[in-house]
Amino acid sequence: AAKDAGRDRFHLHTLALDEAVQAEAEMRAMVERALREDRLLLHYQPIVSSAGMVLGVEALIRLQHPEKGVLPPAAFFSVLDHPRLARPVGRFVLETALHQGAIWHREGLALHMSVNISTCHLLDARFLDDLQEALIRHPDLPSEHIEIEITESAPLRDMAGAQTLLRACNRLGVRVALDDFGTGNASLTYLQQLPAHSIKIDQSFVRDMINDPDDLAIVAAVITASRMLGLKVIAEGVETADLAGLLTRMGCSHLQGYLFSTPLPPEDIPAWITSFCSIPRTEDASPPMDV
Ligand code: C2E
Ligand code: MG
Ligand code: MG
Ligand code: MG
Repeated sequence: AAKDAGRDRFHLHTLALDEAVQAEAEMRAMVERALREDRLLLHYQPIVSSAGMVLGVEALIRLQHPEKGVLPPAAFFSVLDHPRLARPVGRFVLETALHQGAIWHREGLALHMSVNISTCHLLDARFLDDLQEALIRHPDLPSEHIEIEITESAPLRDMAGAQTLLRACNRLGVRVALDDFGTGNASLTYLQQLPAHSIKIDQSFVRDMINDPDDLAIVAAVITASRMLGLKVIAEGVETADLAGLLTRMGCSHLQGYLFSTPLPPEDIPAWITSFCSIPRTEDASPPMDV
């Protein structure tokens, strides 16, 4: 009986593995097809300063599915870092985001454009060429207005390589943000070693900081460390005015979240900016949500 149970467990295990492999293959096929059929697109989520200015937007990928509509990256997340897909998807994202950023700049909207870079693409020997090519194609978007968002996994895999690469990006004028900060094993040393300009505090800490003193302490420490190192701090996942007020009082300079806006299709951004900026404000220093 024990042997039967073991065999059943083995059987269940391989089944689950098969299903995972199968799901991954289906996701890959879905994204490959979307790439070929031009059904990948970007939405843009505003990033605001705690004084109520619109600083820029983050480009976030979506997939237009023939039956299911517009899908967020949760539906194909693991594929974004797949060796065969990371570069083609990354090139699409760079080209589309810089193209859109250049259009806004020509229209007088000097928005910063934040672009997520997968670890696999970042560590690809051709990444710098891909970035440079996109910069050359869109000279109307100053490279100083472009920020690449990277996660901890690339530098943790190869710190020296990441340093060299990010310095090369800096030489092109491009800024670097450390995304999802606090979720991995990154330390303060790591912060000091990388030529970064911004830190994005992961939304898991932001969401729970009102109720969880540990998360509050982490957010406070990251804000303090960032300011000491001269880095911009962006809190992600800000959903309530209470949170925005608290983060602002704690010294967090930039905020992003549903309180201000969900990610929007590009055509909705100009109207959003107009409505956000026309909210009357009592003092410059007061955060927009207190009005
Ligand atoms: P991320 O870079 O940390 O992006 C922030 C995510 O948080 C976005 O999810 C955004 O819609 C969501 N978000 C923003 N504000 C709030 C809020 O107030 N509440 C909640 N609950 N969520 C909020 P999204 O668009 O689904 O993207 C998920 C992740 O997929 C991104 O996390 C990023 O890691 C990855 N991703 C998105 N676009 C790209 C891309 O173009 N390339 C690559 N390589 N990865 C991407
Ligand atoms: Mg990001
Ligand atoms: Mg993030
Ligand atoms: Mg995240």
